[in-house]
Amino acid sequence: MKPPFPARGWVEIDSAALAHNVSTIRAELGDAVEFCAVVKADAYGHGVDIVVPVLQAAGVEVIGVASNAEADRVRRCGFRGRLIRVRPGAADEISDGVPLGIEEWIGGPAHADVVRSVARRRRRPIASHLSLNSTGLSRDGWDVGAAGEADAVRRVFADESFDIVGVCTHFPREDADDVRRGTARFLLECSSVAPAKSAVTRHCATTYAGLHVPESRLDMVRIGAGLYGDTSALDGALRPAMRVLSTVTAVNSYRRGSSVGYDGWHRLEHDATLALIPLGYADGFHRSLSGRGEVLVRGERARIIDRIAMNGFLVDVTRIPGVAPGDEVVLFGRSGAECITSDDIERSHGHIAADLYPSWGQLLPRFAVQPTG
Ligand SMILES: *Cc1c(COP(=O)(O)O)cnc(C)c1O
Repeated sequence: MKPPFPARGWVEIDSAALAHNVSTIRAELGDAVEFCAVVKADAYGHGVDIVVPVLQAAGVEVIGVASNAEADRVRRCGFRGRLIRVRPGAADEISDGVPLGIEEWIGGPAHADVVRSVARRRRRPIASHLSLNSTGLSRDGWDVGAAGEADAVRRVFADESFDIVGVCTHFPREDADDVRRGTARFLLECSSVAPAKSAVTRHCATTYAGLHVPESRLDMVRIGAGLYGDTSALDGALRPAMRVLSTVTAVNSYRRGSSVGYDGWHRLEHDATLALIPLGYADGFHRSLSGRGEVLVRGERARIIDRIAMNGFLVDVTRIPGVAPGDEVVLFGRSGAECITSDDIERSHGHIAADLYPSWGQLLPRFAVQPTG
């Protein structure tokens, strides 16, 4: 589908795929587990404004954000449910987050002091989730095993500056045994620090844990990747919702032995036809993809052969007949029978695809499409 505006590159979001993923995941989790849909990084580049209406239509009652800007946009979509910040906030964010009704993530003793000072200034308790380092991520949270820390956590529960509504942790690995061990330890630590009969929401699982290890679901699961179809969990039942497209601008043939790209990055081993794609690292196509990544031209794979420049890169289309300026190019997602998947990106980039696609969604113009079937 052509974008409804002139663009060198664009992002299509398949709203029907999002709706399918939400309902599939909800059916898998059942009614006893709350579904927190994570829309940080502008819904992983899919767009809060596109994703939140889908969540609302599906009756999702909890949304996870990182920034206040995201929270504000979620509220402007008309969402009145619970909003949780899925990282420790800075003092000014926490203060400005109060009118948005954001529940905060308390990331350890020093951060608790930050939240407390905001609560005192605002003269009201801050609804908060208390993070424990039960899984050994050691990014934030109390180390309940260390001397004095369990007592310190109990004091936070008793402190009137806080309204502790949840206890949380986050896993360092996508590994089922690690998730089982971490969940068991988290449960023990929760019961040792939370006051008896308290109704806190205990949550630790993300997409991987929640969909692969049911005992990690506890009271709530925080789902990001699965929502956008970036997971092989549930036997591939979830559908990728993002496609990234561009058009060929120039096509040229160069002789065997020619050097190609900055620093003479590549030397042609045969006479070759090269197509220029007008996107580069300024658009989030990282230099790591140089010489490794592939795109789809006329439904066939073409390899990126040069060193990716700020606003352009070359693909070898020698074996694809008839490529001409104006041809559509798929950089991520399906084209006919072929597909550039998250796994493809991970292999060529050397890191998870989520390291790149949120930037594509935020840097390139984006629109929602009707499914093409
Ligand atoms: C991003 C994030 C999630 C969602 O993780 P996915 O693997 O994308 O499902 C959950 N919890 C926290 C704390 C996060 O930062």
